[in-house]
Amino acid sequence: MKFISTSKRKKTVTKVMAVILAVLFVLSTIAAILPTLVDAKIETVNGSTFLRVGLFYGDSAVSSLAMTSDTGFEIGTYDAASGFVPTAVFASYPAVVASVYEGGAGITTPEWNPVCTLADSVPTFIRASGGGNIGVAENLYTGIIEITFVAGALKVVNIADLEDYVKGVVVSEVYTSWPMEALKTQAIVARSFTLHNGTKHGSDGFDICATQHCQAYKGIATAVPATNAAVDETRGLVVAYNGEPALTTYHSSSGQSTESAGGAWGSDPQKYPYLCGVDTGFDDTENYRNGRWSYTVSASALAEYINSKPAYEGILQGGVENIVCEKREGSDYVYKITVSDSKGNEIVVEKSTQVRNLLYQYCKSACFNITTCCPVYASDNEEYILDTANMYVITADGPKTLSAPMGGLEVLTADGFKPVYSAGEKVFTISGVGYGHGVGLSQYGAMTLAEQGHDCNYILSLYYPGTVIADYRTLGAQE
Ligand SMILES: [Zn+2]
Repeated sequence: MKFISTSKRKKTVTKVMAVILAVLFVLSTIAAILPTLVDAKIETVNGSTFLRVGLFYGDSAVSSLAMTSDTGFEIGTYDAASGFVPTAVFASYPAVVASVYEGGAGITTPEWNPVCTLADSVPTFIRASGGGNIGVAENLYTGIIEITFVAGALKVVNIADLEDYVKGVVVSEVYTSWPMEALKTQAIVARSFTLHNGTKHGSDGFDICATQHCQAYKGIATAVPATNAAVDETRGLVVAYNGEPALTTYHSSSGQSTESAGGAWGSDPQKYPYLCGVDTGFDDTENYRNGRWSYTVSASALAEYINSKPAYEGILQGGVENIVCEKREGSDYVYKITVSDSKGNEIVVEKSTQVRNLLYQYCKSACFNITTCCPVYASDNEEYILDTANMYVITADGPKTLSAPMGGLEVLTADGFKPVYSAGEKVFTISGVGYGHGVGLSQYGAMTLAEQGHDCNYILSLYYPGTVIADYRTLGAQE
């Protein structure tokens, strides 16, 4: 028998395996866990909404914190109704430092001139004199910095106007060179997401954190005119559903369709009907960063990777033998995956975000297919990868597909047929489309639609069907 394959010499397997995940552009991990639907309770006073953003708290609480200001500092009181009321002014100080010291904590100048002490568990409010920008650590913020000496460290919260906060978020979420309607789309989505999740960190003493757990926020230092204009032009606007800001999850890019909240997290479709899978056939993933991707990993390396995860430690013995992917009707995303070894041990994972987490190092979304190959060594000692999906046996009835390599193989090379004398380790190639969990807005998709001339209202109605665009200050939940 002669076997003909589309074998290609691939010495790049190990190189591909060594590819490290690129810097994340999206909040791809924002919604690893589905946020719960909560009523936004952030207070709005005189048309402005102030948000308490946790900068350092819990494990990230600090022992010292440098602050800078061009206009000096004010220490004062703060509540939502009265705003900031200065009680002491230090206009000549360009920098101060909050620090924990033996027996307490306080704020001083870098030369140790005292500004105030920090009582245990009592928040202290500080801002730039006159309310300008205040430098904190390496970033620049608007509004007020709230510092609390608690559990021996400093918890730091930025009390910022919602619109300033959204400016800080948007600039870190999209390319500022994108069309204005794409930037406006991102501004509305970030605002909705913020207000929907606004009380997520209530038990931590603030509203929302500054990491990708909620939304990445590094203050306003990097904000640019284009993104600021996008926020200003959409001031107050949110995606609304049932009179409340919607859970506007978003991701970098999707394939031909987005993923549903049910497929991603197993949530009740009735609860988030606007987070359904929608057709995005206009996507130009070829030209999106991380829009199309492929990873190849050996059976043993994949087993080692999965075994390194505490939840699956020690289940797989030896290499991965087989992977079965199942997709739900109408969805391109892998909803269920079964990974097994040669001894019949298997790991079964359901929901596309969990599938993605299982293979995280080797996929950028759960919108993928897996092919299996087995490299073989021919008599000339060259390694060939036999692509079993494209192998044929030439029979009397013509070519028949071959499901797997077997003994007695010969490979057709440029130099003619060569007998296979040994088989290498099985490898899996995971090839997919899109980056992120795939639910809700595709940021790149929004960019493409904006380039085609669509406005933000159209883009949002496409990605969140059944919702409306409204000013949150007129929604019932905000009264
Ligand atoms: Zn958070």
